[in-house]
Amino acid sequence: MSRPVKAVINLAALQHNLAQVKRYAPYSRIMAIIKADAYGHGLIPVAKALAESATSISAFGVACLEEAMQLREANLQTPIVLLAGFFEQKELHEISKLNLDIVLHDGSQLALLEQTKLNKKISVWLKVDTGMRRLGVSVAEASSVYPRLAACPWVADEIKLVSHFAAVDLQHNEVAGAQMQQFQQADAPDFSARSMAASAGILVYPEAHLDWVRPGLMLYGISPFDTKLAEDFGLKPVMTLQSQIIAIKHAAKGDKIGYNGTWVCADHTRIGVVAIGYGDGYPRHLKSGTPVLVNGKQASLIGRVSMDMITVDLTHHRHTQVGDCVTLWGEGLPVEIIASYADTIPYTLITGVKPKRGAILYRGEM
Ligand SMILES: *Cc1c(COP(=O)(O)O)cnc(C)c1O
Repeated sequence: MSRPVKAVINLAALQHNLAQVKRYAPYSRIMAIIKADAYGHGLIPVAKALAESATSISAFGVACLEEAMQLREANLQTPIVLLAGFFEQKELHEISKLNLDIVLHDGSQLALLEQTKLNKKISVWLKVDTGMRRLGVSVAEASSVYPRLAACPWVADEIKLVSHFAAVDLQHNEVAGAQMQQFQQADAPDFSARSMAASAGILVYPEAHLDWVRPGLMLYGISPFDTKLAEDFGLKPVMTLQSQIIAIKHAAKGDKIGYNGTWVCADHTRIGVVAIGYGDGYPRHLKSGTPVLVNGKQASLIGRVSMDMITVDLTHHRHTQVGDCVTLWGEGLPVEIIASYADTIPYTLITGVKPKRGAILYRGEM
């Protein structure tokens, strides 16, 4: 028997969430964002389930050429957008060969693109910085970059305009509204399409849907807002992180549990040891009191998270035995809640899962 850690990936839920994207943004094309190993869910199985879904996607979005190459090697012919474009000039030949779109976000990339003669045209998305102050040419620069792109013989005719929100809130969207205004200033009739919204914008800011939406987190059934859960938006969790009880202990009043004895038993305590730890991506700084599900019923983490193990309070779980199932997050226990206990966002938890020391299992229609 191998270590019982597993990330169960529900591909039917993924396809359901994709259908929800279409419901929220019915008039937009969908670029499904699958960077960082599909947010820790496994690049190829996720990409295939999305490509074969009843709701059609128009492109995948990834962070780098390596991710795009894996998709092409797996025979996926869907258009792919490199969200940061290229990092080195020599990537351009491979990009044109594999028929990848690039996001062009900086003058230095433009100069390299102009210098590198390509036999096959590549499609370009011009990224404009509307307030994030991360990637993108300035609104003022956009008008001078466009003619240079249009004049470049190996840039495809249809050039698209793209930007990214620094913040979209549930209610008051002054910041996002100001970014929309900047976007409109950079816009020109020559652009063939426009894109602003990621998950948060898709869910609550319809004005930003434009021609293309770029869902990431919501595809995986997670809410991007810290005061709302995925189910409030009709989304279903895709990843459920599970393990098992591997030992049961009895501690007396006053006993200290785990490293540095941070948990002192107030009474006689039945303790379950679970095979999951920060080496698997379960954050070390999770506090005592963080919920877990033992056989579907809530219990609490007590003491420090170790590399391969945690301890949970089973005092009120009298029938629990070694081998019983423990859910760390996912179905029945939203990862948004665990993220708030860890003072982080769900994105870091799901991308941090390391199923290499356990298993990643896929279920659902394919
Ligand atoms: C990661 C990413 C997205 C997806 O964001 P979510 O909040 O996960 O929906 C969209 N656009 C760009 C440019 C990204 O880098």
